[in-house]
Amino acid sequence: MKKAVLLCMILSLLTVFTGCSSKEKVDVVQGSETLYVKKLDLKEGFIKGVDVSSVLSLEESGVKFYDYEGNEADIFKTLAQSGVNYIRVRVWNKPSDANGDGYGGGNNDINRAVEIGKRATKYGMKLLVDFHYSDFWADPGKQMVPKEWSKMSLEEKAPALYEYTKASLQHLKDAKVDVGMVQIGNETNGAMCGEKTWMGVCTLMKEGSRAVREIFPEAKVAVHFANPENQSYENYASKLDYYGLDYDVFASSYYPYWHGTLENLISELDKITDKYGKEVMVMETSYAYTAEDSDFFGNTIGEGSAVVKNYPYTVQGQANCILDTMEAVTKMKNGIGLCYWEPAWITVGQNSYEENFEKWEKYGSGWASSYARAYDPSDAGKYYGGSAVDNQALFDKDGHPLESLKLFALADQGNEVALQADAIEDVTVFCDLNDEIVLPDKVNAVMNDNSKKEVAVTWKDVDYDAMKKGGVNTYVIKGEAEGREATCFVNMIEYNFLSNYSFEDGEWGAWKVTDYGKADQIYVEEKSTDSLTGKWHGHFWSAAKNSVNFDLEQEVKDLKPGKYKYAISIMGSDAGETAIYAYVKINSDLFATNEGHLTGYNMWEKINVAPFEVTEGDIITVGIHIQCAGEGNGAWGKIDDALLNSVTE
Ligand code: CA
Repeated sequence: MKKAVLLCMILSLLTVFTGCSSKEKVDVVQGSETLYVKKLDLKEGFIKGVDVSSVLSLEESGVKFYDYEGNEADIFKTLAQSGVNYIRVRVWNKPSDANGDGYGGGNNDINRAVEIGKRATKYGMKLLVDFHYSDFWADPGKQMVPKEWSKMSLEEKAPALYEYTKASLQHLKDAKVDVGMVQIGNETNGAMCGEKTWMGVCTLMKEGSRAVREIFPEAKVAVHFANPENQSYENYASKLDYYGLDYDVFASSYYPYWHGTLENLISELDKITDKYGKEVMVMETSYAYTAEDSDFFGNTIGEGSAVVKNYPYTVQGQANCILDTMEAVTKMKNGIGLCYWEPAWITVGQNSYEENFEKWEKYGSGWASSYARAYDPSDAGKYYGGSAVDNQALFDKDGHPLESLKLFALADQGNEVALQADAIEDVTVFCDLNDEIVLPDKVNAVMNDNSKKEVAVTWKDVDYDAMKKGGVNTYVIKGEAEGREATCFVNMIEYNFLSNYSFEDGEWGAWKVTDYGKADQIYVEEKSTDSLTGKWHGHFWSAAKNSVNFDLEQEVKDLKPGKYKYAISIMGSDAGETAIYAYVKINSDLFATNEGHLTGYNMWEKINVAPFEVTEGDIITVGIHIQCAGEGNGAWGKIDDALLNSVTE
């Protein structure tokens, strides 16, 4: 008894000292010397949220966070100082295996969420609770049922979900966490908690919503979807409406490098406000401040990744991207805020993959540990590891806040700094192997306010000779403009004066067919396996003897005087006796020819015509004559990749 009483006293003392019921006042940062911030017209109470769900695991892994003065500090205090007013946290039912080893991604169950919630509340920030209703990641690709509910029917799952939500929220309430919003499911594009019909999804969502209303009647109920570029939100909202879901906020993920334009996002969410009167928000967004990876685990975006890159990967580019997204929310009819996803998911060590891997496994500080294998074999089970977003953090790899983090504090007032180049846009040039290589002497600087300005550039170490002799190839040239690095991609190409030279237009286009033998088939065919390059080629076949007899030609005017060459490729079979030749006509006089042959399937032959001289005003016709007696099943063949180009000695 006594022991128990003593324990109670210690616990209540601890509660006082950890301050979960007493808020600490923080001073919000007032400006930045280097960050340009455009002034936004934000509504009172605009949600400036960040999702730092991985933070406890990071701290357990030894990661330290600092304030703007370089002193070690509670990250939640730094976030509050930076103008953040909402902390979002994901909640998984039971993110661990039978031995209690965590799946990773912060190992966030409700107890972890309470810890995070208490720290948010301490610094005056509200909590946004994100129930995945799964034991691990839920997104448009997967919505797996929690292990404990896996045998349940929908009728059994619904009360289980209600009770779970209610108990979890009660836990937060008991800890005096200031819960402002609760999300019923995460990126639930037509599935949730193992249910794959809207009837099933909505049945469960209604139970979640009911639990929120009972425990936190002041909090908002949110639903959350992804992929606004697919323009399915109106359809989703109609299902929620049909099944009578009680909710306040229709939220969308918006990763600018994947999810279409901001104009589309605004229009998709405005439809929901127009039709159903809901509030809307961006629930997840992020952007890179560097192309570098710092934790030895590959990143979602970086150098050369095939994504939309409307902003440079710089601290200022990152800030401008978020500010534009925030501005888009202000343009929505009922936009209430934006949450940045995982701005603190930085590396847990500086030295090696092995060192980091040990921590990801032990503390759950990577996106997934190997222990998640049994639950999620096809994704986590294969690709488990660290952070794929350390280059999209708002803290550097050592835990110091980036200037971009201040944008939450500065967006209302704006922050003017001197206009200067932040990065130089890459340029791409195409040079004909036969022409002089000319590199641009001006490039576009991306200024810190995201405007563009043409500036002079100096290219370094350009080996023109090697590029001319290297054949068809791409070269990366580095240079300098406005003190920033510039990059030029030089594509050495063989210029082609023919149009539709590989038949990729899917029709003859500029080509003219003259069919003397009335062949059964002469057309442009789509079949990449039968094409020399691309998907399309010219096709012919005819069963009757001597019925393959046609010309295929194209006329070209206004060539610069000089020497030119012409070639075209063929393959085919069952030709019998043939008269096949590529030809060049100058002003309708046959000038040059060369013979070709049909020797078998995919035995392509390139027929080259000897170089010829073009003078001012000449009309050049290049073509191929194909005449086959035919044998067996009839002559057939394919024509592809014609080339007309100038020649230099
Ligand atoms: Ca990484």
